[in-house]
Amino acid sequence: MNVSGRVAIVTGGGQGIGKAIVEKLGSYGADVVVVDVNLEKAQAVSDSIKQMGRRSMALKVDVTNLKECEAMAEAVFKEMEAIHIVVNNAGITRDGLILRMTEEDWDAVINVNLKGAFNCTKSALKYMTKARWGRIVNIASVVGVMGNAGQANYAASKAGLIGLTKSIAREFATRNITCNAVAPGFIETAMTEALSDKVKEDLMAKIPLGRLGGSSDVANGVLFLASNAAGYITGHTLNINGGMAMQ
Ligand code: NAD
Repeated sequence: MNVSGRVAIVTGGGQGIGKAIVEKLGSYGADVVVVDVNLEKAQAVSDSIKQMGRRSMALKVDVTNLKECEAMAEAVFKEMEAIHIVVNNAGITRDGLILRMTEEDWDAVINVNLKGAFNCTKSALKYMTKARWGRIVNIASVVGVMGNAGQANYAASKAGLIGLTKSIAREFATRNITCNAVAPGFIETAMTEALSDKVKEDLMAKIPLGRLGGSSDVANGVLFLASNAAGYITGHTLNINGGMAMQ
């Protein structure tokens, strides 16, 4: 599970699961670029990576904007001389039953969760292709596999990410670039903190392992898929959900 000497970009790395992924990759030897719309948070996480003795950058990027993503990849390559690993983690929710869901809620979620991954992947692939080595990991969700009432936009974005993952895996396999997805179940972060106790109790009843996951459970899966050890795995979706959905 060694990623030492690799240069990784993690989007939405300023907090939650993204922050855990940055710290995990850093602690296993990668230099990590922390990308987020919130520069202050990205900077704090990046500083913690530098304290580990790794190289790091914090960049303010809105992943919905292709031009910003292209500039980000160019800046990373200029400073770090390579891009080996991209983790498309930035994501948002705008929940609501479909009859009440506004067009803005639909567009916002698809733009960040799905188009954001397209923008960052496309921008980084240019540099990965030259190196003939790459790992792309997309953070999907159990909801993209099962669907969820009240989350049509989010579920569609995450199911779309799984299709994007398989297509990139097929297009870039000959360049030694793998692309996989991780589908977390319910993980204890700011995103799930907002759920009521009743909703959490109902959820727990559906999770065979009987607990919400931790950010580090997800980060462990990402580390594996980003490492040399996963070199023969591509187009796969790794469930990290306590058994909530089994494929
Ligand atoms: P979070 O809200 O705690 O963190 C998301 C991060 O993404 C934030 O730092 C935010 O500033 C950043 N971000 C948002 N929009 C952005 C944009 N346009 N450009 C750049 N950065 C942006 O969320 P989290 O719970 O840590 O979730 C991380 C990922 O994991 C998301 O893709 C989410 O859908 C997925 N996920 C979470 C859970 C869960 O239970 N928390 C479950 C399954 C999947």
